[in-house]
Amino acid sequence: MKGAEIEGAREVSQHDLDALGDLAGHMRNQKLALCDLVSKAGPALAQQATVEEGLVAAHEASRAAHPRGIMGAMSMSEIQSPRRLAWRSALGAAADLLLPPVCIGCRARVQSHGLLCGDCFAGIEFIAPPLCARLGVPLPYDVGAPSLSAAAIAAPPVYDRARAVARYSQTMRDLIQSFKYRDRQEGLALFGRWMARAGAELLADADLIVPVPLYRSRLWWRRFNQSALLAQDVARLASVPADCFVLKRVRRTVSQVGLSAEQRKRNVAGAFKVDPARKSELKGKRIVVVDDVITTGATAEACARVLSRAGAARVDVLALARAVEPAAFVL
Ligand SMILES: [Zn+2]
Repeated sequence: MKGAEIEGAREVSQHDLDALGDLAGHMRNQKLALCDLVSKAGPALAQQATVEEGLVAAHEASRAAHPRGIMGAMSMSEIQSPRRLAWRSALGAAADLLLPPVCIGCRARVQSHGLLCGDCFAGIEFIAPPLCARLGVPLPYDVGAPSLSAAAIAAPPVYDRARAVARYSQTMRDLIQSFKYRDRQEGLALFGRWMARAGAELLADADLIVPVPLYRSRLWWRRFNQSALLAQDVARLASVPADCFVLKRVRRTVSQVGLSAEQRKRNVAGAFKVDPARKSELKGKRIVVVDDVITTGATAEACARVLSRAGAARVDVLALARAVEPAAFVL
């Protein structure tokens, strides 16, 4: 019970932080003109406005964490004359009339494209410190120094550190499955910003980002690799190169859904391989493996194992969601 209360308090404090970020974001972003909107439109709009400002704050935080990334991504074509900007905003307004912005989760109307409504945002359980230094799972209390969860001590992972944006809640599951299986990619930019923020510590001195690859027949059916799309977005924001070809899935594996931890481990054993012609490129590199979800960690560990064997100095893992065991006690 106590753990649940602490967890609740932590989530509340994360929301408080977001709310502070909201205020700062408001000062910077006149476009949303939120105070005015909120005072006129009542609580429902206030809730949505807070969500959107939270997302702006997240973007601002990632901008602060990776100034090189944002500047690096900026091109001359983005520095436009006021006249061009006016045209662009008029065209944007016309496009919004034809194709109104909807929540990327439930399709309810929202203020801008690629965002969540208040209800869906409330269903996302962001993972916030204190975290287990290895597994990245939340710990029930902060002991000051970097701490490990009981699970990380009992069975240390092959990878060095893992971080994820949020728990694999029902809302996250729905968002990821829409992205993966129903080709709904309008949330990609938001997911990328979230991941760049959650993985800031791993990305700060990383040399290379490597997505978990799909087997070629699955890639053919699905037409895209969701992890590669996420990896490219994170790479752009963090100014770290991404390589979608150095790691290959050489064996077709059955879906991990419904398998036990042991079955998952066996399912992915020997499934990944580093391109032999490029093995030397990985020597001494600090690599961040990107995946959509970490459940038992079997896939992440299988990837980390082959990358370490190829000579990588460090292999970390960054995911959009992570299944979190309820009893991740600090030791
Ligand atoms: Zn929604």
